[in-house]
Amino acid sequence: MINIALIAHDGKKPEMVSFVMRNKTFLSKTKIFATGTTGSHIEKEGFNVEKLLSGPRGGDAQIAALLATGNVDIVIFFRDPLDKHPHEPDVQMLMRLCDVHNIPLATNPASGNYILKGIAESLKEKEG
Ligand code: PGA
Repeated sequence: MINIALIAHDGKKPEMVSFVMRNKTFLSKTKIFATGTTGSHIEKEGFNVEKLLSGPRGGDAQIAALLATGNVDIVIFFRDPLDKHPHEPDVQMLMRLCDVHNIPLATNPASGNYILKGIAESLKEKEG
C-alpha cells in the first residue's frame, strides 16, 4: 500500500479538495496522512484520513518524521507562495527531508497529477 501525505496551506485548500476529487480512484487505494485542517477538508469528501496536528502546531514536523522513518512514500504539499507562515522553518525542514530521503514531492496540482499518474502506471506495469 502506498502511504501519501497531503498538506495544503489555507489559500490552497480549495485546490487540494479539487485535487483529491480528481484523483479519487487512485487515492482511495492509498493510506492518507494529512495535517489537521487539510485532513478535515479531505475527510468531508469521503476519504479515510489519518489526521496529524495542524501544520503550525507541528503537523508538518510529524509528516517529516514519518517520511524520515520510511512511513511516507509521496508528499503532496500545496504551499501558498503569496502568504507568510509562522511555521516556515518546519516547511523548509519537510522539503529538505524529502530530498534527503528521495521522496517525491509535489508543491502544486500540476506536478501532483504527474506524480500520481506516474506511480499508477508503474504499479500497473509491476502487476501486469
Ligand atoms: P493545516 O496545516 O492542514 O492544519 O492547515 C497545513 C500547514 O499550514 O502546513
